[in-house]
Amino acid sequence: MVEVQSGVPTNWARNITFSVGEVQRPGSLDELRALVRASAHIRVLGSGHSFNTVADVDAERGGVLVSLGAMPGGIDVDRDARTVRVGGGVRYAELAAALHAHGFALPNMASLPHISVAGSVATGTHGSGVRNRSLAEHVRSVELVTAGGDLVTLSRGDAGFEGAVVSLGGLGVVLSLTLDVRPTFDVAQHVFGELPFAGLDFAAVSGSAYSVSLFTRWLGPRFDQVWVKQRCPEPVDFPWAEPAGEARHPVPGMPAVHCTRQFGEPGPWHERLPHFRPEFTPSNGDELQSELLLPREHAVAALHALDSVRESIAPVLQVCEVRTVAADLQWLSPAHGRDSVAFHFTWVADKRRALPVAALVEDRLRPFDPRPHWGKVITTDPGRIAARYPKAPDYVDLVRRLDPEGKFTNRFLRDVFHL
Ligand SMILES: Cc1cc2nc3c(=O)[nH]c(=O)nc-3n(C[C@H](O)[C@H](O)[C@H](O)COP(=O)(O)OP(=O)(O)OC[C@H]3O[C@@H](n4cnc5c(N)ncnc54)[C@H](O)[C@@H]3O)c2cc1C
Repeated sequence: MVEVQSGVPTNWARNITFSVGEVQRPGSLDELRALVRASAHIRVLGSGHSFNTVADVDAERGGVLVSLGAMPGGIDVDRDARTVRVGGGVRYAELAAALHAHGFALPNMASLPHISVAGSVATGTHGSGVRNRSLAEHVRSVELVTAGGDLVTLSRGDAGFEGAVVSLGGLGVVLSLTLDVRPTFDVAQHVFGELPFAGLDFAAVSGSAYSVSLFTRWLGPRFDQVWVKQRCPEPVDFPWAEPAGEARHPVPGMPAVHCTRQFGEPGPWHERLPHFRPEFTPSNGDELQSELLLPREHAVAALHALDSVRESIAPVLQVCEVRTVAADLQWLSPAHGRDSVAFHFTWVADKRRALPVAALVEDRLRPFDPRPHWGKVITTDPGRIAARYPKAPDYVDLVRRLDPEGKFTNRFLRDVFHL
């Protein structure tokens, strides 16, 4: 019998209360398929770290919210094929530890390992690095339970595959993903202090190591911290700022012990590429996040555009992080077809104060054709987002082919794609 978790579910940051009072937790593939077949409308909730209603169901359609947390079948490494099959409920922390134990690695990770793999790739989640693509690009195939309860696998090279990873949960339940892996590697993380915008050579700075994150609180025309993650034994050459004298957290005042090791101490990829350690909560959830990705050539112009409204940004900001993401092929990836710079904002948790400023940020970045992160607060008029994705019509065709009745389509998808 399907386990039911009662109590009003919210997302991690508690800014979204889902439209139904319970989450169904099937414990087997048969139970999952039966649940999908029997439901007129159903959506999967991953680890609930998105800041908007992308995962929600429409209550008026009797929507069923399902978690794969109780499903068997977690992580299967295939040494010869250099792949790993990951269940739809697995989080990066468990996957990374298992891969490392087998001598394997993923090319990159997001800032925290607490998020589910399926939910992360479904929203185009990314880390940083001028040559690192979004996490969706690690996926080699997707195994779906579609509307009729059937199993459908889409693999790289199949028609529609590029629409099936950053899927926003709209095609079916992702039962598993198969990811490419590579031999494990070590990374050394260095944190540097202030870096002024004046004279900034963004290409040189962001390309100076495997992964570079630039943090500012917009208190002045400068970055306050630069986190540089370099593959070992490559040297680190960062002449633009002084090394930090003590361990840092990206958000001032938060304990640095929550963060991955700094001061250039080499360590395995999964203990350096995320900013936060799995055994600590990255923060207390008192925050809202928004992020916009734009073509990378606009990075410096965009910084100056935001600097002109820094007095509005700073009072409601916890921290802003600027990263790079390499162009990818996924139709709905915010980095689709363009090497991107990502402007991320961790705002105070007060919607009334933070959202108008998030909208102001978007207004200032609009000349650069920004695409909002699918998993964060979105201030763009939803009806205008799809036009920023040349392949959005192909995604709509794929949804109609795999789910003609719209069983997995919620209001978020209808508003964005006019489904
Ligand atoms: C503290 C914090 C730090 C973050 N850092 C980063 C970062 O560094 N980089 C970045 O790009 N983003 C970042 N994010 C955003 C985060 O990566 C996304 O919100 C991501 O979607 C979270 O994964 P999740 O499992 O919680 O997804 P959820 O919010 O639970 O779901 C997201 C979407 O995936 C779908 N989904 C989930 N599982 C399945 C499944 N098995 N089958 C079908 N559909 C499914 C849901 O229906 C929904 O549409 C951060 C968020 C937080 C809270």
